Amino acid sequence: MNSYFNFKNTTKALCKEALCLCKEQFDQIEEISRLNQERTLKSFLDCKVSESHFSSTTGYGYSDRGREVLDEVYKQIFDAEAALVRHNFVSGTHALTVALFGILRPDDTMLCVTGTPYDTIKSVIGFDDKTKKDQGRIVDFGIKYEQTDLLDNGEIDIERIKKDLKRRPKLVYIQRSKGYSLRRSLLVEDIEKICKITREISPDSIIMVDNCYGEYVQTKEPLSVGADLIVGSMIKNPGAGITPTGGYIAGKKDLVQLCANRLTTPATGGEDGATLFQNREMFMGAFHAPKAVGEALKTSVFASALMQLAGFEVFPKFNEKRGDIVQLIKLGDENKLIKFCQAIQSYSPIDSFLTPEPWDMPGYNCKIIMSSGSFTMGSSIEISADAPLREPYCVFLQGGIDFNSAKIAVMKAFEAI
Ligand SMILES: *Cc1c(COP(=O)(O)O)cnc(C)c1O
Repeated sequence: MNSYFNFKNTTKALCKEALCLCKEQFDQIEEISRLNQERTLKSFLDCKVSESHFSSTTGYGYSDRGREVLDEVYKQIFDAEAALVRHNFVSGTHALTVALFGILRPDDTMLCVTGTPYDTIKSVIGFDDKTKKDQGRIVDFGIKYEQTDLLDNGEIDIERIKKDLKRRPKLVYIQRSKGYSLRRSLLVEDIEKICKITREISPDSIIMVDNCYGEYVQTKEPLSVGADLIVGSMIKNPGAGITPTGGYIAGKKDLVQLCANRLTTPATGGEDGATLFQNREMFMGAFHAPKAVGEALKTSVFASALMQLAGFEVFPKFNEKRGDIVQLIKLGDENKLIKFCQAIQSYSPIDSFLTPEPWDMPGYNCKIIMSSGSFTMGSSIEISADAPLREPYCVFLQGGIDFNSAKIAVMKAFEAI
């Protein structure tokens, strides 16, 4: 143990025990990172990424070679026909919104088969309040929303999905990560199962996956098991904490084209958009992402083991198979929740001296506390903890591009409660 941080002897002992428990999981994580890094390196070589791709365009951004090659790189990594990777997406929510509006037309039906979607996406669709005046949400365009609820144990309801698919929705929507819910995050194997039954019952449905927090957690991505479109945020897994902003959409060529037409214009699609000196960091993020995700996974597995040893309920358990980088710890009361998040902030590399407070964050319908002492504001591939202030007072811990330092933040958060 280091001498820069004064941990209690009991904390040190419990950590040692937790690390012993994690050994097998850490080996598996290393192996997954290694395979994903190989795929990434191969893509860089095949696409002949060059220093010249780091230069930039302004104005319309026509013929930006860096932008084009970056799309090629992600296309190969994600096993896609096409990819649209842009700093112009302001968030993951924006990329998902562009994809929904890019694909859906009036009278179409979107069926979400993984229960209630992530808070911000719920606000984008607008199904919970149809009485509100036009706000440009999905339902305001005469697009129908349907949902297959999860089973009481939080698992996907395959039998019910089969029934709902008989109505042949235009879009089947899958959320890989749990978001701010208590369900299990989907494994790529679960997504494969949903894709198979969709192809059997409703072959023309488009299968779209909200891939946030899932990239590089396993050795395959959803496009390799039958999904048509995946969407995510560059300030989560695929940006490695290096890419400063943006999002991606990848998948079937015609669908990605429709999304590009929506992001820019039907006249230009993915052919314009100045890169404003973002290319180098976009490429660097792409290259370092498998390693960063591995470090984040180690942080989650360690936190899970430590908090379980301390008697807290944790999801998933340290030795359970993971579909995303998120670790959930049931703290049970508001005060512990706030203390935990504040301690994570206090031992993060940036803004450690600030104290996060719960606030009414846009897009969410209850107060949220969010610690993110990160190089990129709000980046949650860097060590971060956040929580909606509602029952059952669970904290969502994720990220840690460097396990050694993230571990210190976790240990301090443990001591704080
Ligand atoms: C983070 C997240 C989003 C939205 O991404 P932002 O970049 O925060 O807008 C959507 N879905 C899931 C499951 C997420 O975890």
